[in-house]
Amino acid sequence: MAEQEKRVVRFKNKRKMAKLFHLKYDISAGQIILDQSKAKMSHNELLVLPNRITERQGAMLKERLTDRFLYKDRKPFISEVEYEFGKIFSVCKSCGFVTDRDKINKAWGGLCRKCFRKYQEEKKKEYQANKDYLKKIRKFKEYIKTSQGMVDAVPPQVIGSNIRMEVIRQGKTMREVARHLNLSDKQMSVLFDNKRLDVDVLQAICEYLMMPMEKALRQPRGVRLKRQDGLPRFWFEDDFRMKNE
Ligand SMILES: [Zn+2]
Repeated sequence: MAEQEKRVVRFKNKRKMAKLFHLKYDISAGQIILDQSKAKMSHNELLVLPNRITERQGAMLKERLTDRFLYKDRKPFISEVEYEFGKIFSVCKSCGFVTDRDKINKAWGGLCRKCFRKYQEEKKKEYQANKDYLKKIRKFKEYIKTSQGMVDAVPPQVIGSNIRMEVIRQGKTMREVARHLNLSDKQMSVLFDNKRLDVDVLQAICEYLMMPMEKALRQPRGVRLKRQDGLPRFWFEDDFRMKNE
């Protein structure tokens, strides 16, 4: 099978429709030619448009050109062939597929049926994604008002640093804090490396150190946590979960 034919067959399988041909115009004979090959066979032959059409569409165009009073006494110019083509066909602005004008829906916005469907699907997905995002924002805004949400809004490493500073300031040790919480040294050492610091644990630490919780949640100078829609940016990362979610 010639490469040209193979291409046509592949296209056909994809579209499940009639064979498509290149539209050429023989300027000396004043006739349109449908060709599987794009290649120029004679110097009189010009490709009218890069888009391909069916045999039926070729016949439609030929009929239109023969019928025109204007072309009774002379052969149409190629620009006129192009003009008549545009009168009866619509070329998809996305894929270049040629559809009869009377089979086109204005609502498709210059797309073919297939591309318009695809466009609609994408719009639907976009809309759904936006809806999901807004829902997430609403949930986060509720969550950040809870005591656990307030703790989760600050990375545990920052809280850990604040606690350590306070411990040092009070002349205590982290080991003493661990004893108070009934934590092993090992548990204490990784407490602020976990993804989440439990609000009850933090409260117990703050009570022991007699420090207000806000102080433990304070952002150190020079640290600016990135925000998105008024919420901590890292909450939007895939691995963030609200507690009890
Ligand atoms: Zn298309």
